[in-house]
Formats: sequence, structure tokens, C-alpha cells
Amino acid sequence: MDLGISGKKAIVCAASKGLGKACATSLAREGVDVTICARTEETLNATAEEIRALGGGSVQAIACDITTTEGQEAVLAACPNPDILINNAGGPPPGDFRDWERDDWIKAVDANMLTPIFLIKATVDGMMERKFGRIVNITSSAVKAPIDILGLSNGARAGLTGFVAGIARKTVRNNVTINGLLPGPFYTDRLTTNLKIHADKQGISFDEMAKQRAEGNPAGRFGQAGEFGEYCAYICSAQAGFITGQNLLIDGGAFPGTL
Ligand code: NAP
Repeated sequence: MDLGISGKKAIVCAASKGLGKACATSLAREGVDVTICARTEETLNATAEEIRALGGGSVQAIACDITTTEGQEAVLAACPNPDILINNAGGPPPGDFRDWERDDWIKAVDANMLTPIFLIKATVDGMMERKFGRIVNITSSAVKAPIDILGLSNGARAGLTGFVAGIARKTVRNNVTINGLLPGPFYTDRLTTNLKIHADKQGISFDEMAKQRAEGNPAGRFGQAGEFGEYCAYICSAQAGFITGQNLLIDGGAFPGTL
């Protein structure tokens, strides 16, 4: 299926590894010119090279912290009129809400709520004028079913989801869609870090913890980042203009609800 987005321009945030990298890879393969960012320059440049080697759209790499105003400005200067925006950043750390101070909350809200909102603000009007835009916010299955130790994530991402629910219905008339993609357990650095914490807490090995968790998923495994990237590319496709304001789970069936 030709997704009809060859030649479009995309900003993919936090894309040197994991889910962001997978989205950038799938989009570039479709012929989209991608601008990717992450804080660690070396890893980011290596990822840019890897994606370029696939021979799709062009790849620009901007080393920055996307949760800062400077980082957002640098990415927007490199790609001022994106047709596609993939909002992503590292997730907040797990913990007990009793230990979190105001600064911990501000950090989480900055990264997982306000950064996407400001990037949407900077790009959505241009998309509406050009009559094409696809905005995808990578959030978490925790938006639908909260994870107790990820309170910072549950809270900040719910704020973003609430905001988007309103504007996604205002932009779609101009063929600009805004959706959340909600990952369940995908085998990335983020997941392995969390698994190590759980394994240490329970006094079992990482491998045992990983096996238990993978088997506990209805699919009997973790998701692969590539599966997420392909879903993202479809949501960004020309054909997906009637899908907006949705929070789309990709979790192997882990969420037990009928709807
Ligand atoms: P990952 O494999 O750890 O990759 C995170 C990527 O984001 C890296 O490229 C990292 O590079 C970059 N990054 C982190 N903070 C950044 C910042 N402030 N500015 C720019 N780049 C930044 O994580 P992932 O699994 O892909 O997760 C992506 C998002 O999905 C996270 O918010 C995570 O909480 C959420 N999520 C993941 C899962 C899962 O199972 N994997 C499940 C639910 C939700 P640098 O460190 O070099 O900046």
C-alpha cells in the first residue's frame, strides 16, 4: 500500500532509539524527509546514518533536549513547515508519589504534556493552511489503564490527552489529524530499565522478570519497535484523514476492556 506521503516533511522527536526511531524509520522508508532529535549526539548521528542507508527520504539530525525552549526552536528552525509531527520524549521515572516534589512534577509535565502542546502550537496553523497535517503523540497505555508506580506519567500524559481531545476536532476539517498512539510493553531501553527496577525489587533476575512479563501479555511476548513504527506511518498516511482525536492502543491485547 502506497501511503501517499512521499516528499512530505516530518519532525520526529526523541528518535535516536526505541519507538521514536522506529517511527522515523518507517516514515523515511515511505519517502518522507525526516528531522530527528535526541540529546546524545553520537547515538543520534548513528541512527541518522542507519536510516539514510535504507535509501528513503532525507534525514536531518538535531542534537537537543526537546523539552527545552532552545531544543524546540532548534528543531523548528531545521524543519519550519512540517507536514507530520511525532511528539515523543523520555518517560518520567517510576516511584511513589509521596517522594515527588514540585520539581519532579514540573519536569514530567514539561516533557510529556507541555512540549507536545508547544510543538503543536508552532506547527498546526501551517498544516491547516496547507490542508495536510498528521500529528501523533506517543503517550502510553497508562493513559487508558494507569500503572501505579508511573504516577508522573499517568498524570502528565492524561493532561496532554485531554487537551488534544478538544483541538483534534477543530483541525480535521483542514485535513489535519491529531491522535495518540498508546504503547503497551515494547522491548526498548525504556522497558528494560523498568524491568531491571522490578526485578531488583522482587529479588529475581532480569531474565526471569522479562520472561514473566512477556508471558503475562496475551500475545505471549513484548512488542517490537518496528511494529509501532509501521502503525505510526499508517496514521500519518494520506488515507488516514478520517481518524482524529483517537487514542490508539498497541499492546498485544493487554488492556482487558471490550472497548
Ligand atoms: P527509549 O528506547 O528509552 O528511547 C527514548 C528516546 O528518546 C531516545 O532516543 C532518547 O535519546 C530520546 N530522548 C529522551 N529524552 C529526550 C529529550 N528530553 N529530548 C530529546 N530526546 C530525548 O524509550 P521508548 O521505549 O522508545 O519510549 C518512548 C516513549 O514511549 C517514552 O515516553 C516512554 O515512556 C513511552 N512508553 C514506552 C513504552 C515501552 O514499552 N517501550 C511503554 C509505554 C510508554 P537521548 O537519551 O539521547 O536523548
